[in-house]
Amino acid sequence: MEVVFLGTAAAEGWPGLFCECENCRRAREAGGKNVRTRTSLLVDGIYMVDFPPDNYVHVLRGDLVLSKVEYIFVTHAHQDHFYPEDINMRAEPFAHIDRRRTLHVYGNRKVGEWLSGVNMEKAGAKYHPLRPWDEFVAGDMKGKALPADHAEDQEAFLYLLEEDGRKLFVGFDTGWFPEETWRALEGVEIDLAVLDCTNGRLGGRRGHMGIEAVVEAKSRMEEIGALKPGSKVIATHFSHNGGLLYGELVDALSSFGIEVAYDGMRVEV
Ligand SMILES: [Zn+2]
Ligand SMILES: [Zn+2]
Ligand SMILES: [Zn+2]
Repeated sequence: MEVVFLGTAAAEGWPGLFCECENCRRAREAGGKNVRTRTSLLVDGIYMVDFPPDNYVHVLRGDLVLSKVEYIFVTHAHQDHFYPEDINMRAEPFAHIDRRRTLHVYGNRKVGEWLSGVNMEKAGAKYHPLRPWDEFVAGDMKGKALPADHAEDQEAFLYLLEEDGRKLFVGFDTGWFPEETWRALEGVEIDLAVLDCTNGRLGGRRGHMGIEAVVEAKSRMEEIGALKPGSKVIATHFSHNGGLLYGELVDALSSFGIEVAYDGMRVEV
């Protein structure tokens, strides 16, 4: 499978929408991999994990052809991960596309509530409700929704996705995983694990992770057979408050065998 990191920032983007802090100034100045839009992933051009307000930037940048996307797996209904209003732009007269293709949107109850503001029928879209631990099949992809440790009102998911025997684990907004999630990952042998590193050098383990927790999560994943030799681990969802620019993140994480995501990064899994 081919995985594209469309966006790799936390809620405010980096530089932040309204921010005047030193880390945003440094990112603006350095440019390149230090400029980060809101988080999502594209898999094989037809599957997305999350649907952020920066979709349009990703379309303009040429990494995303939204008309080809058929399945969206939403981790939770926070604005940086789910911007449902844009689904209305799939309806006529905003989009002229092959109407035999449906856009399938998977997510929890809150995601369903947010979709009540979208004319799903006109958009040619269908909502598939998910509860924690639900397994589903979407095209050639098998999926499972595992509980994250994020905001209490969210029931955020981590997704375990499998296609042609290749396994992708997506942990966007999460602190240290709940114990039952750790148990479910035993022996899974994930090929690519994408982990929340929102807090960077600030650290922390609840709601979001930082450098230390990501390093510790990788070694626990190795211990329990969630990873195997040759598996990749990539950190993403960085906040300006974490303080580390791309090169500094690489310095902090590469000796632990963890790669640092940037907008537009492509990985063959
Ligand atoms: Zn987020
Ligand atoms: Zn800032
Ligand atoms: Zn969130």
